[in-house]
Amino acid sequence: MKDRIKTMMDYAYFEGKITPSVESKISIASHSIQYGSTCFGGMRGYLREGKARLFRIEDHFERLMNAVKIFGMDFKMTFEEFKKAVSELILANKPATDFYIRPFIYSDDEDLTPKFVGISFKIALYMIPLGDYLDTSRGLRLMVSSWQKFPDASISTKAKAGGSYLNSSLARSEAIRCGYDEALVMDQNWSIVEGSAENFFIVYRGEMIMPSIGSSMLEGITMRTVVEICKEENISIRFEKIDRSMVYTADEILLTGTGAQILFADSVDDRVIGDGKMGEVCQRLRNIYTAIIEKKHPKSKLWISEYEVC
Ligand code: PMP
Repeated sequence: MKDRIKTMMDYAYFEGKITPSVESKISIASHSIQYGSTCFGGMRGYLREGKARLFRIEDHFERLMNAVKIFGMDFKMTFEEFKKAVSELILANKPATDFYIRPFIYSDDEDLTPKFVGISFKIALYMIPLGDYLDTSRGLRLMVSSWQKFPDASISTKAKAGGSYLNSSLARSEAIRCGYDEALVMDQNWSIVEGSAENFFIVYRGEMIMPSIGSSMLEGITMRTVVEICKEENISIRFEKIDRSMVYTADEILLTGTGAQILFADSVDDRVIGDGKMGEVCQRLRNIYTAIIEKKHPKSKLWISEYEVC
């Protein structure tokens, strides 16, 4: 797997203003550093016709603020304020390539107690150049991880919380050490629920199946996009428990995420999926996703917003 993640761009949004990234620092004793008490988001920026196109920014903001609500963090921001911060940051960095914006809510309180009450939270944003996060030119080699996804009864699975990504890190690291590209994780009921940082779908006996929203998975914005496209395109899709044998014998396996976009697996635990090539459903969904980004689809109006880069 190619490592395409580069370093931060020159400016960050920090302490309510645009600040050089090198000066955007917090104390090593910060609550968020010690306990992983952050909630974050991740949006792709596509540089097209001299402007930055952001995909579903309102939905990303909503998920971030839902995470704040779930954890009961003391933090408030309106969507207008968020958009202003995003547009100022893009203008400051003047991206010359596609990029990724990472907004996150953190606490730099030097408080030793792991709790959310009595702790103050702030927002920061930074940008990195980002092409493909995972290799899109081929199918992924997946393994089913020995690490289980935590249940929502332990940590919210619907919030992208910094600390909970230790679980993703364990699963992804195991996959890399074993020579695979990415891991699939099971929940407490031995159902496969997602990748370490992607949602997952299977095409099984000609039908799309994905785990139910209430299973221990993140409700991905790319996943929601795929579900909405399927409904419009009359591609049959069901939400259901997916076990390991269904995965091994699926016609196609798709992974979706802001970083990953729409990818397919050519094998899981060395069992070849379908004919090991990109399937019909994956190709069709990818074409539609690209048309949305390229503003050649009716949904582009709804889901794409444009920002000046200079
Ligand atoms: N599941 C997990 C655990 C993730 O980290 C991500 C990436 N945010 C996804 C699914 C996909 O979500 P999205 O499409 O919103 O990027």
